Amino acid sequence: MSKKVTIIGSGFSGLSAACYLAKQGCEVTVLEKHDRVGGRARQFESQGFSYDMGPSWYWMPDVFEKFFADFGKKVSDYYELDRLSPSYRIIYKDGPLDIPSDLNELYDVFERIEPGSGPKLKQFLKEAEYKYNIGMNDLVYKPGLSLTEFMNTQFLKGVFKLDVFNSISSHIRKSFSNPKLIQLLEFPVLFLGALPENTPALYSLMNYADIVGGTWYPKGGMVQVVNGMHQLALELGVKFELNVDVSKINVANSLAREVVSKSIHKEFDVLVSSADYHFTEQTLLEEPYRNYSKKYWETRKLAPSSLIFYIGVNKKLPNLLHHTLFFDEDFETHSKEIYTDPKWPTNPLIYLSATSQTDATVAPEGCENLMVLIPIAPGLKDDSATNDRYFDMVIARIEKQLGVSFKENVVFRRDFATSDFIKDYNSLKGNAYGLANTLSQTAILKPKLINKKVRNLFYTGQLTVPGPGVPPCLISGKLVAEQVQKYMKQN
Ligand SMILES: Cc1cc2nc3c(=O)[nH]c(=O)nc-3n(C[C@H](O)[C@H](O)[C@H](O)COP(=O)(O)OP(=O)(O)OC[C@H]3O[C@@H](n4cnc5c(N)ncnc54)[C@H](O)[C@@H]3O)c2cc1C
Repeated sequence: MSKKVTIIGSGFSGLSAACYLAKQGCEVTVLEKHDRVGGRARQFESQGFSYDMGPSWYWMPDVFEKFFADFGKKVSDYYELDRLSPSYRIIYKDGPLDIPSDLNELYDVFERIEPGSGPKLKQFLKEAEYKYNIGMNDLVYKPGLSLTEFMNTQFLKGVFKLDVFNSISSHIRKSFSNPKLIQLLEFPVLFLGALPENTPALYSLMNYADIVGGTWYPKGGMVQVVNGMHQLALELGVKFELNVDVSKINVANSLAREVVSKSIHKEFDVLVSSADYHFTEQTLLEEPYRNYSKKYWETRKLAPSSLIFYIGVNKKLPNLLHHTLFFDEDFETHSKEIYTDPKWPTNPLIYLSATSQTDATVAPEGCENLMVLIPIAPGLKDDSATNDRYFDMVIARIEKQLGVSFKENVVFRRDFATSDFIKDYNSLKGNAYGLANTLSQTAILKPKLINKKVRNLFYTGQLTVPGPGVPPCLISGKLVAEQVQKYMKQN
């Protein structure tokens, strides 16, 4: 008889785990507190605008291709991808720079900004390619349960080339000295939630992903990836129960027996939680069954939270690309205000996504769909007056940059900040994407996929291995399914 598996949460990791476990022959049910699947990547619609709530950068297309190939499918069976060109725009203090998708053009851009840096970029990317190949084909597929996993891998053979013990900040500065190029090469690391000086140089693999792998866009938005995985899960027989807010996991004799919500009591053979790890342990489980203490969580370095504005504008805006990074303010001050002296930022860097520039389906005709994101320290208290202050600030900066005013053309606005991350995702201090990828929070030092005290309870998602981001969450679902399979074979 097939084993019953219940999964809490339908973000990328929950959807991925559901697909792999169903393929393994399990009877899988996903419980989701929201009225739709996708978690941090779900979509909402209002007044003809459709907004991706979270991720907007589609990087590492090979990881998505590999995921669907595990089920005999292709990405193109579920959604259509376009490579963005230029990849994105950076607004520096002295003006904008478009990052070309063509590598040779980018070498020229580097050479123009810092003579001699073109060939250095070539060498830098060669090393980054090595790290990408080992990192994304080998290291991220380790469950991170023991050091021995790394003993026979290419990791040991090439440990120095992988640059695990240097920071990416010093790695970049060895080859480049122009502040603009340094900022451009440090930007992808911001996805990992820590400062470049605290992030291992291994992660220059993100530069390879950015510059060589490219920035892609699924037609219809990132939600198309969610829809594709949801569709695949349904084809594999997974059942989804929406609007189920799990409030307790009952345990007896070292086994999770049932999950409880206002509306259901559900029994299973195996339970996988893809809800935020800290919440699952500290809120759903009683103390004797937790892997980690309250103190453990208090001492973790969290990725930033975000203040996000979803904006609808009733006219088209000129001089705009799909992705724009506003690096026109002081990076050091802002990063201090996130990491070392947490406070609302004085003059933050901002990210602007304008999906309607490349996709007519996400806004009514003649309108613009904008999402503005300001990274902020986790745990900051937000309120509408603070949001209003930052809204005025970011609109003024965008208007100045584009050379047009559009504040009076804003016909839709929704704010999302720390308190929303807590309310919607039970996120620790309202962090947006889990734990920072510092050396002391990497691989075997991350919260584990398995519960050591409750044998049939497993975890997946951005707070466990391999870490934050859409591609890692797809892989996390695969890793947890392998651990469940092992457990089932032994029991
Ligand atoms: C604003 C933002 C921008 C980002 N940008 C990018 C990007 O551009 N590119 C990229 O690759 N990554 C990006 N990321 C990171 C990426 O989106 C996440 O790492 C990933 O989506 C997390 O997936 P997950 O499955 O771990 O968690 P989630 O998506 O949070 O899924 C967990 C699910 O559990 C559900 N849940 C929680 N508690 C309960 C409960 N008690 N009962 C039932 N269900 C429950 C939640 O509703 C949710 O659906 C971004 C994240 C954010 C927030």
